Amino acid sequence: MQLSDATARHRARRLDRDDPLAPFLERFIPLESGVVYLDGNSLGRPPRSTLARLTEAIQDDWAGALIRSWSHWADLPQRVGDELGTGLVGARPGEVVVSDSTSINLYKLAVSAIDARPGRPVMVIEEDNFPSDRYVLEGIAARQGLELRVVPTHMDHGLSLVRLAAALDDRVSLVCLSHVSYRSGALADLAAITGLVHEAGGLILWDLCHSVGSVPIDLTAAGADLAAGCTYKYLNAGPGAPAFLYVRRELQDQLGQPIWGWFGQSDQFTMAAEYEPRPGIARFQVGTPSILGIYAVQEGVRLLVEAGMPALRNKGMALTSYAVELFDAWLAPLGFELASPRDAARRGSHVTLAHTHAGRLSEELASSQVLGDYRNPDRIRLGMAALTTRFRDVYVAMARLRDLALPPG
Ligand SMILES: *Cc1c(COP(=O)(O)O)cnc(C)c1O
Repeated sequence: MQLSDATARHRARRLDRDDPLAPFLERFIPLESGVVYLDGNSLGRPPRSTLARLTEAIQDDWAGALIRSWSHWADLPQRVGDELGTGLVGARPGEVVVSDSTSINLYKLAVSAIDARPGRPVMVIEEDNFPSDRYVLEGIAARQGLELRVVPTHMDHGLSLVRLAAALDDRVSLVCLSHVSYRSGALADLAAITGLVHEAGGLILWDLCHSVGSVPIDLTAAGADLAAGCTYKYLNAGPGAPAFLYVRRELQDQLGQPIWGWFGQSDQFTMAAEYEPRPGIARFQVGTPSILGIYAVQEGVRLLVEAGMPALRNKGMALTSYAVELFDAWLAPLGFELASPRDAARRGSHVTLAHTHAGRLSEELASSQVLGDYRNPDRIRLGMAALTTRFRDVYVAMARLRDLALPPG
């Protein structure tokens, strides 16, 4: 299929012109000139409001009110948890708290879940889940003498329900899966899988790192039990910003989390001799929360909520579809393969391309100021964050990749 640069560029311009989310780009600190950023799914860009908010928090809350600020800082993890929970993941108030990192939240939730299902010594994970998720569960299995059942996954198309169903039985306590695969972008059917796990009597723990802020999520409608996710990707809260965790309301007081810290303790400031977990979601906190980080999460969440998940999802699908169109025309003939689901409804907001020389091409792409990601074994991953990516950015990246892969002469 022939597609000239002029035609593709014209289409990108028209799509940008008609994009209802285009004005949101102005809300971010501008990029260095010439940089095309397709890695917002790894580290989102800083909103201007975050800079202002953090400056204000340092001046007023910290320098000004000093330790007195704890009177309004203390419940910030839950207040921002509620904004994130109700605005982006379909939680009810009191089901989400902002705390720690995703890895630590996965540990806390996984151990809680296993303890709540005594006599079920098996945990289930998919082969292609994110490394930290696999390591955390492997570590728990090794330490507690449990079995970790690993379900084979198609690296590009994601987990098959049939394969998952075959791994479930009455010995399974917990299943831990990613909603959107970090490598291929494959989008799992959250409601169907949750139902399958419940039929087998297990609990489900969803990793939402690559789906929160990129695809609509309704944990309540799905009846999901547990979830965790990070905020420095599509939520734009900055490197190492605190993660969030979700526990379905009905489960909270049945679950005891394994890291007993003073922020999970009821009546924290009596410094009681005995640990007595707080009621509700607050018991899943451990130590002093990262207040500045949580302010950054709040700004990121507010921007996404203002844009609205349906509009973000529409643009995310349009961006990745435009990338796939250029892939078909320009890259498929040059030895690239699409390593993401072809159907836009079945992928998140990134597209992965496989090529024998992906490593070299990724480096050359970065040297030419187009920033994506290299992923094992031979993949280039291009993230399209709906608030900050323009169609013309996708055009530049795909044309550049084509020119770099073109045989000499
Ligand atoms: C980014 C990511 C993580 C990161 O966990 P951290 O503890 O924040 O380093 C975990 N899981 C998935 C699926 C991710 O994409």
